[in-house]
Amino acid sequence: MIIILTPSATEADIEELVQNLKDHGYGVHISKGVEKTIVGAIGAQDEAKAMIAEQLSSLEYVERVIPILKPYKLVGREFHPDKTIIRVGNVDVGGQKVVVMAGPCSVESEEQTIETAKAVKAAGASILRGGAFKPSTSPYSFQGLGEDALKILAAAREVTGLPIITEVMDTRDVELVAQYADILQIGTRNMTNFSLLREIGLIKKPVMLKRGMASTIEEWLQAAEYIANRGNYEIMLCERGIRTFETMTRNTFDISAIPAVAALSHLPVVADPSHGTGRWHLVPPVSKAAVVAGADALLIEVHPQPDKALKDGPQSLKPDTFAQLMADLASCARAVGRHL
Ligand code: PEP
Ligand code: MN
Repeated sequence: MIIILTPSATEADIEELVQNLKDHGYGVHISKGVEKTIVGAIGAQDEAKAMIAEQLSSLEYVERVIPILKPYKLVGREFHPDKTIIRVGNVDVGGQKVVVMAGPCSVESEEQTIETAKAVKAAGASILRGGAFKPSTSPYSFQGLGEDALKILAAAREVTGLPIITEVMDTRDVELVAQYADILQIGTRNMTNFSLLREIGLIKKPVMLKRGMASTIEEWLQAAEYIANRGNYEIMLCERGIRTFETMTRNTFDISAIPAVAALSHLPVVADPSHGTGRWHLVPPVSKAAVVAGADALLIEVHPQPDKALKDGPQSLKPDTFAQLMADLASCARAVGRHL
């Protein structure tokens, strides 16, 4: 249930309420808004729920008690009506600025990574992407350079000042990846890896959770709930396309998921038009559409020589095409009251 406190509730009132809820076996999550404090009480075996709700309603500092009917609570708008803004380095994701994260699909070498990092920074990107541990459908394709790639990403951050986002695939690597990354990425194939989600929930770093390629929006939000439930609320949701009958594109980018999930959840929404389409020439139009649909950030693959890329060359933009896209995106952002 959600307990909305009156604006005059004091710290002592909150403490008393929290103790009361814990005594009833609830897990307690507090959200302090500008005007009001909202307390989420989750997880008790509550046959006595109605009675407890009634008792709480009688407290002077309680304005209202609302049962939560949705299967996700902490990441839902009911619990936290205000949009969450996640600070990464000196960049805010979820604010007025549309944030662009760009870089190669995979870290292939120091030279390729730093060259790309400099190019995307010059074009206006504010976060560098690059895969160190690559989830591959085939065991015979490139699996990533692992920790060597993490070191290269750290070097690129040193040179450019750009924070880095990179994927973690395995619970055993969470600590290692968290040592280097500014944002940990959970890939589409791991959205329902509940052990990994639980592990990520324990770290104190922002995370970007991609939507499973065959997952509904509700399942995606429940995956995010796994992370929040363990105490990590710094979650971004990334739409990266879903599986449909269409074969002309690599995935079908679900543009409607952006406003849909933004209405249901307070978490920032990222769009990945690179994996969403699989074709570089579709990346600019879909990026623009995503910004207009309300995406808080974009994740775009850029490679200095896409024809030599070890992975995802066909969907990678060349630096000059990326720079042109960045210039074009400014007016799209302005059209929806934001900036780039
Ligand atoms: C990626 O962004 O590097 C990636 C592997 O994406 P996805 O998990 O969406 O396939
Ligand atoms: Mn890729």
